Amino acid sequence: MFIDYETFRLRADALREHIAAACRASGRAPGEVTLLPVTKTHPPAAAEYAARYGLAAVGESRVQEAVEKQSLAAAKVGWELIGHLQSNKARLAAAGFNRIQSVDSAKLLLQLDRAAGELGKKLPVLLQLNAGDDPAKFGAEPADAPHLLEVALGLLHLQVDGLMTIAPLSGDPAVARRTFARLRAIRDELSTRTGTPLRVLSMGMSGDLESAIAEGSTLVRVGTALFGPRG
Ligand SMILES: *Cc1c(COP(=O)(O)O)cnc(C)c1O
Repeated sequence: MFIDYETFRLRADALREHIAAACRASGRAPGEVTLLPVTKTHPPAAAEYAARYGLAAVGESRVQEAVEKQSLAAAKVGWELIGHLQSNKARLAAAGFNRIQSVDSAKLLLQLDRAAGELGKKLPVLLQLNAGDDPAKFGAEPADAPHLLEVALGLLHLQVDGLMTIAPLSGDPAVARRTFARLRAIRDELSTRTGTPLRVLSMGMSGDLESAIAEGSTLVRVGTALFGPRG
């Protein structure tokens, strides 16, 4: 059985306090960090809980699963794609999501731009970088980031909000911290070089959000700490 709303509410309260404490510890204001609840593998009620709690958007990993859930969830909430996107699903993703965080190739940028143009919308995206050099993770090579950004900035129907990364799984917390510091350094450099703010740094999940916030995260993607383990 899925958790009830009261359980969710208590967990969300505790998580927001945890985020606020991490912000205070690094001299940041809690309002600088957005909480994106990750509803993948959970029932449509997960998105409804998030909306009822006042969260603006939820994160999903797979296009098909999200689209099915959108037709079942009564709540009005934004949807962000955080999982790998195959280019043959670019059109469906551009139509079904309010932002795509997992853009990691020039080919995908071009396809999303075309799809967004046909839909008559400007689609917000994040560029996903493999800032931890993890062979098990998707994301563009950090060395390719300047080229990807240049391509993205030349497209009329995309809006680049910032960067996203997933830290390698490791028993050593310093690995995640280093990954997050690197993403922020890349953002700062790209931002200076292009004059684009790239305000959003999507980094940090249930297990590593403290070090992500210490390194400048503006958006943490949290599943397990809110909804419990995935089946
Ligand atoms: C599943 C997922 C999350 C949430 O992970 P938790 O450890 O459950 O908080 C965050 N980001 C991405 C990209 C994910 O796929």
